[in-house]
Amino acid sequence: MDNTTLNLYDFSRAELTAHFARWGFSAYHAERVWQALYRQQVDAPDAIADLRPDLAARLAAAATLRQPETAAALDSRDGHTRKFLLRWADGQTVETVQMRYRDRYTACISTQAGCAMGCIFCATGQMGFQRHLSAGEIVAQVLYVNRALAAQGQSVRNVVLMGMGEPLHNYEATMTAIDILTDDKGLAIAPRHITLSTVGLPRAIRRLADDNCPVQLAVSLHAATDEERAALVPPARRWPLAALMDACRYYMAVRGRRVFFEWTLIAGTNDTPTQAHAVGKLLQGMNAHLNVIPLNPTHGYEGAPSQTPSVRAFQQIIAGYGIPSTVRQRRGLDIAAGCGQLRAAQLFSEPPRNGSLRNGN
Ligand code: SAH
Ligand code: SF4
Repeated sequence: MDNTTLNLYDFSRAELTAHFARWGFSAYHAERVWQALYRQQVDAPDAIADLRPDLAARLAAAATLRQPETAAALDSRDGHTRKFLLRWADGQTVETVQMRYRDRYTACISTQAGCAMGCIFCATGQMGFQRHLSAGEIVAQVLYVNRALAAQGQSVRNVVLMGMGEPLHNYEATMTAIDILTDDKGLAIAPRHITLSTVGLPRAIRRLADDNCPVQLAVSLHAATDEERAALVPPARRWPLAALMDACRYYMAVRGRRVFFEWTLIAGTNDTPTQAHAVGKLLQGMNAHLNVIPLNPTHGYEGAPSQTPSVRAFQQIIAGYGIPSTVRQRRGLDIAAGCGQLRAAQLFSEPPRNGSLRNGN
């Protein structure tokens, strides 16, 4: 397979249709192939049934469906979370997590191998940036989880872009992937069931609003003063909170949507009453919801998760400002389901701090 081979997963339906037109095949043929990819979920072009022979020959010569290999798989003890380390042909690996809430499944997927943002508490940030994923590599993670669930007659219903990488640093590929995941003739995942989580890049948040990106937006805040935020999240040195909050207000005004904010609670660092009052003031009057997530410890960072009484006190203070909040369950802690931890464990050839590793197929 050479560089001119097309990964069909990289194309939105409109792009696939345009490509087929250049090859001399009508929209009807593009749609049949699209449905084979996303409804029947075939895993190779030659598995598409009843294609016109000249189209089958063209696809055999010029197209592929690039699938990742399983480098490792881990099951949490409670049976609700499965974490996969997936390897691409160039050897890069990313993490994909399958989570069950009642009888519904969520896929937590990656947008980059590594991450350039360098948040100090994050295992992915600690390993640095390797490369962007293509749209097809983002989408293939959802199809991978669908295949893992097929035996149970289940499929992915929710998607969170909260795995490795910063989705808005890989803007185009992420938008194409969202287009593919939500396409009503394909996987048809409801936009409200997809959450894009960002470290908070103001210009890209404005662009999301202008592009009418239909999914839910979550902004990783973690601190409510520039100094404390910059100590945890390096991009905050360049984009102060005032610029970030302006961009969020713009997004809310244009999209008419609530924005979720994320706050990883670190004992004694950002779980103090001072920080709680500061974030209450920052978000007061906005259509905001705060998700608080006690830190998942990583090798490269000494901080510890906040204990329950501090979490409660934090929530109570922000509730006083009219900000609703939810404590996110720290699911799959025993399998290092925090962002980037499984890959970090493999890279450093040591078990993750919270559990053990077994090799997958
Ligand atoms: N780059 C994006 C999306 C991936 S990270 C972002 O930063 O939002 C998804 C979420 O996991 C972010 O809110 C991030 O701050 C949080 N996170 C990363 N490492 C964590 C850890 N060790 N413990 C708890 N939350 C963590
Ligand atoms: Fe990148 Fe998000 Fe991790 Fe920060 S928290 S390093 S932005 S993946």
